[in-house]
Amino acid sequence: MLTPHYTGRFAPSPTGHLHLGSVYTALASFLEARSHHSLWRLRFDDLDTPRNVAGATTHILQTLETLGLHWDGEVDYQSWHLDDYHAVLADFITSGKIYRCQCSRKNLTDIYAQTCRYQCISPDLPHSLRIKTDDQQIIFDDILQGWISQNLATQHGDFILKRKDNIIAYPFAVVLDDARQAVNHVVRGMDLLNATPKQLYLQHLLHLPAPNYLHVPILVDAKGHKLSKQTLATAVDLTAPNRVLFQLLDWLKQMPPFELQNENVGNVLEWAIQHWNVARLKGVKHIAI
Ligand code: GLU
Repeated sequence: MLTPHYTGRFAPSPTGHLHLGSVYTALASFLEARSHHSLWRLRFDDLDTPRNVAGATTHILQTLETLGLHWDGEVDYQSWHLDDYHAVLADFITSGKIYRCQCSRKNLTDIYAQTCRYQCISPDLPHSLRIKTDDQQIIFDDILQGWISQNLATQHGDFILKRKDNIIAYPFAVVLDDARQAVNHVVRGMDLLNATPKQLYLQHLLHLPAPNYLHVPILVDAKGHKLSKQTLATAVDLTAPNRVLFQLLDWLKQMPPFELQNENVGNVLEWAIQHWNVARLKGVKHIAI
């Protein structure tokens, strides 16, 4: 039976293959959903077009299928919804919540100095769009990482919703995406923890419900670097997908019994759903592999 109040998702960017770090997050998100008898949606975060890689979506779909991580419903693509993002930006401009910014990256410090906030910049000039933030504390209770409290103005500043190259920025797009897909349980890597206060702020402005957040540890290599395409993490080797799942369950601290590694994918996943205990990852930020 489905638990209708819970919908999870996996939202990879089609910027290359899935490596162990990405399937680790995918499996955690899948098990959280399935152990709640809930929906697990799939969406491609494909707005950052210069970073998209031809063939990546097909490769990602095949990898998930091979690992038995079957999603519910139609696959969604951010690029199908460009009009929706732009409509919200137009509303935000009208209501004065965002402003045009002409600053170039090289002039920027981490926290934006609000140089363009009080200037009148023509829409015809190249510009990014920034949201006005104020001195407020955003507080949320991450299911694994506990209470997180960040100041919007001093820790995030006026952040970008649309880049100068016209690309809709990730922290903004995801807010509309999760709402559109009725996602209310977001499981993703610790590396995105700092994006969450921005998303909570936008959800509040847009009167959208805030999902629950659960940030799982990230896998790090021997040097302590996050496994990522930037650190040249290779595509997950699918010669023995059951063994991959077994290894991931170990890194998810699920203590899979030794014999499980000889079972097929379906049986490994069935065991994992039945025994899933996310609390074993409480407070864990990194897993060294
Ligand atoms: N597309 C993002 C990534 O691949 C994940 C977005 C999210 O889970 O909110 O890192």
